[in-house]
Amino acid sequence: MKIVWLLLLGLLAYLVWRSRIFQDTLPPPTSEPVPPPQVTDMVSCAMCHVYMPVAQALKGQHGSYCCLDHLQQSEPS
Ligand SMILES: [Zn+2]
Repeated sequence: MKIVWLLLLGLLAYLVWRSRIFQDTLPPPTSEPVPPPQVTDMVSCAMCHVYMPVAQALKGQHGSYCCLDHLQQSEPS
């Protein structure tokens, strides 16, 4: 009868050992989901038609410009 207990104990030890190996092979949980890239509104320069973010564009009377030179060339004051 002792042999049955020994077999059960061995089986239990084997299952515990196997579950630990399985836990070690699992990939680590990801910390945070990657946020989607932000969509930025784009506008083209009224002179050279280069696209740029609205935040970087220079506003003129006839449109947006990529740089001060194009603003001054297109809209001389
Ligand atoms: Zn331009």
